[in-house]
Amino acid sequence: MTMTITHLGTGSRGNSTLLETPHAKVLVDQGFSGAQLAKRLARLDLKPEDIDCVFISHHHGDHGGGAKVLQTRWNIQVLANERTALELDLLPELTTYFEALDLVRVGDDLAILPVPVPHAGSDNVAFVASHGGERAAIITDLGSWTDELVNHVRGCEHISIEANYDHNRLMYGPYPYSLKDRISGRGGHLSNEQTGQFLAEVCTEKTRSITLTHLSEKNNLPHLAESTVLYFIDEVFSGDLRISAQDGPDFSHYIGRAHNGAEAQKTATN
Ligand SMILES: [Zn+2]
Ligand SMILES: [Zn+2]
Repeated sequence: MTMTITHLGTGSRGNSTLLETPHAKVLVDQGFSGAQLAKRLARLDLKPEDIDCVFISHHHGDHGGGAKVLQTRWNIQVLANERTALELDLLPELTTYFEALDLVRVGDDLAILPVPVPHAGSDNVAFVASHGGERAAIITDLGSWTDELVNHVRGCEHISIEANYDHNRLMYGPYPYSLKDRISGRGGHLSNEQTGQFLAEVCTEKTRSITLTHLSEKNNLPHLAESTVLYFIDEVFSGDLRISAQDGPDFSHYIGRAHNGAEAQKTATN
């Protein structure tokens, strides 16, 4: 009785994450074209038709841009809050609206809790998925965090969270001042340092795996994200830390009662 967590790819050119239990196959976000999604799922021997439903965190194109095509091409149910559904012009007959902090059940063995996170110009949520007595958090696109988020994420067995930029690379990099200001503001994205600070607050001895996601291609580097985050969590975390690239899928993590280990496995076949 396990749930796999597989990032199909994360970054400013599209995000989508597959959660798969014995009874449900769910995507969190769909920021790819239909063809790109089909290609990425095919590497896991899946087709878009196999997906039961899709949860969308917020309306920005890299997270929700490919939601409507799932409805029009494949008749797939999309779950989003009202603002996100409106912004994406989702088809009402194939949309289920959720409220913040209302637990959504999918099939017999998966429940997903949307938790609000601050991200300017949107009504963004993080998701905490429960299966087999364990929990996995998927958190992306936030400039800061709330006590409420800490409370819901603390002690999760798996945490996927953005580590968007290295502070120095952003500040001395090519972006105009106004954009630097927006990215680093309370409604922007998390720096590697902030992600490390957040993880230091929420990791417990239960936390077995962490994936850093949504790294900026201009303002970050995998080794900077990894070393900065490890500096903050070294004392509290000894599990598996990985980085999700823009072009996935390349590994999976597991939660659930039958699982006793922290290792990630290669899942892509090409
Ligand atoms: Zn966003
Ligand atoms: Zn994004």
